[in-house]
Amino acid sequence: MSEPKSLQEAIVYFSNPDNCIDYLAVRRWPDGAVTCPTCGSDKVKFRAHRRTWTCSSHHAKREFSVKVGSVCEDSAVGLDKWLTALWLLSNCKNGISSCELARDLTVTQKTAWFMLHRIRLALQDEAAGKLGGEVEVDETFIGGKARNMHLDKRERRITGTGGKDKTIVFGALERGGKVRTMVVADRKRGTLQACIKDHVEAGSALYSDALQSYDGLAQDYAHQVIDHAEKYVDGQIHTNGLDNFWSLLKRGIAGSYVSVEPFHLFRYLDEQVFRYNNRATKKRMITDADRFSMAVSKIFGKRLTFASLTGKTADATCF
Ligand SMILES: [Zn+2]
Repeated sequence: MSEPKSLQEAIVYFSNPDNCIDYLAVRRWPDGAVTCPTCGSDKVKFRAHRRTWTCSSHHAKREFSVKVGSVCEDSAVGLDKWLTALWLLSNCKNGISSCELARDLTVTQKTAWFMLHRIRLALQDEAAGKLGGEVEVDETFIGGKARNMHLDKRERRITGTGGKDKTIVFGALERGGKVRTMVVADRKRGTLQACIKDHVEAGSALYSDALQSYDGLAQDYAHQVIDHAEKYVDGQIHTNGLDNFWSLLKRGIAGSYVSVEPFHLFRYLDEQVFRYNNRATKKRMITDADRFSMAVSKIFGKRLTFASLTGKTADATCF
């Protein structure tokens, strides 16, 4: 049976545990040499009846499965469910809530919530280098829908003016390339310009709106401003690419997650950024199967423990 090309094929394919292991092993060890995650030795033997390998060196944890050292390690959930979850999250444009995933996989909501966060960690972009060419920059507010919160939470969180309870996200988009986002503390000049200098190559063409915090960038960039009070597009001068990304992000959060704790927001950003940066375009044909394969390749070498994730948020509403 060849590798799956649709969700339906994926569910059938991964219902066979041997297919799960084959699919993961090829991506984990692309050159075909399986190595021990503890000592790195390739003197390992596959035990088909246990679906694990044993390392011939003498140390603890000689037996290992393909899950060891991945975001699925220490999880009682089977690979069939993990891989279905990965398919859904890497391909559903608006994301998927833990409640939906719990029903789809028949796991508890708490388990689904934890799985989603581990997958989001895997999808995180290991941003290499700076954006260049033509780059749009902008910032947006996320969250703060007080009427959907429980009363005690509302009292804890709502502390005055509207903007204060929202989280600010800064974004930079290379036209025809990738988007990067980060949660920022404020919209002050120092904050936003530091982000730009960290992520955008000096000398690039830079497009922003008329927010004063962007003043003074002309020294390092070919900076052009579109004043949204007057118009939204002036030839090449606009931030439409980033506006488009923000609306995708907000639709996903509003539709699937109901409310996002500010503390967890960066993980939802990672998820949306992964799908956006690996979307199909006219120049780049990417199928759901391709995007899923890329996601699977990213699950190794990362761990996320429940304690580091929670504080105590897993109890909360459906998101
Ligand atoms: Zn070993």
